[in-house]
Amino acid sequence: MTELLFLGTSAGVSTANRHHCSMAIKRNGRLYLIDCGCPASMLLKKMGEDPKAIDAVFLTHWHPDHASGLPMLIQDLQLTYKPETLPIYGPAGTVRKVGQLQRMFIIPQDIYPFQLESHEYDESFVFERDGLRIEFFQTMHLNNENWRKIDERHGHEIAPVAYGMVLHLDGKKIVVSGDVLSSGDIVRALPDADLVIHEFGHIHPEKLNAFVKEQGIANLLITHIHHEWDLRADELKRIVSAGHAGDVQVAHDLMRLAI
Ligand SMILES: [Zn+2]
Ligand SMILES: [Zn+2]
Repeated sequence: MTELLFLGTSAGVSTANRHHCSMAIKRNGRLYLIDCGCPASMLLKKMGEDPKAIDAVFLTHWHPDHASGLPMLIQDLQLTYKPETLPIYGPAGTVRKVGQLQRMFIIPQDIYPFQLESHEYDESFVFERDGLRIEFFQTMHLNNENWRKIDERHGHEIAPVAYGMVLHLDGKKIVVSGDVLSSGDIVRALPDADLVIHEFGHIHPEKLNAFVKEQGIANLLITHIHHEWDLRADELKRIVSAGHAGDVQVAHDLMRLAI
C-alpha cells in the first residue's frame, strides 16, 4: 500500500494551523520526503512515523518554506542513529548548499552514524526504487529574469532553479507542481495524470479554477496554502470547484491519502 502524507501545508508564511511545506510518500514501510519545510521530522512523528525510515529527500528548491527542516532532520537522524545512507536530491547548487548547511549548523558528516549524500538533479534525471519512479520538470518560479539578475549580483550562489515532480507508482501518475510562477508551468506534465497536487502560494483561486477547467483536471489537491487562506479551505474549495465535475480537495497538516 502506498500513502501520501501531508506534513506541513503552508506556503511562505506558517500559521497556527499549518506548518511549512513537506510531504512524504510512504511505500512498503519506507518514506520518501518531498520538500522539508520546518518541522518535518516532528510532523512525521506526530503522524506515527519514524524519520529513520526516510530513504531519500527530494527538494523542489531551496526556499526556506521547503528546506528549513533539513538541518533539524539531519540532527534528529544523527542523535537517533539512523543506520542507512540518506541521499538528498535537489536542483543545481544543492551539493554546495548541503555542505554550507553542515558547517553553519555544526553538524559535519564526522558525527553521523550514517552517510549523508547530496545529489543534484535536472530534467534528465529519473529516480527509481521499489516500483516508485520520480521524474523532474523545471518551473519558472525562480527561473526568471529577476532572479537571474539577483543570482548574478550574488556571484551565482543563489541558483535560481525550482522544479516540480511527476510520481509514477502502482500504475498511477501524480503531478506535484512545486512552486510555480503560474499554473502554465505544469501543463507539459499533465497528460494522463491521476492526481494533480497544486501549490496555492502564488495564484488566485479564480485563476486556479480556470486552469482546472481548461486542462480538464479530474483530481486536484491543493497544498502550499497562502496564509491569508489558512482558515478558508471551504471557500477555496468552492471557488476552485465551480463549473466542472472534477474533484477538488484542500490539504491540511497531518493528512493521509491512500493511493
Ligand atoms: Zn514555497
Ligand atoms: Zn518558493
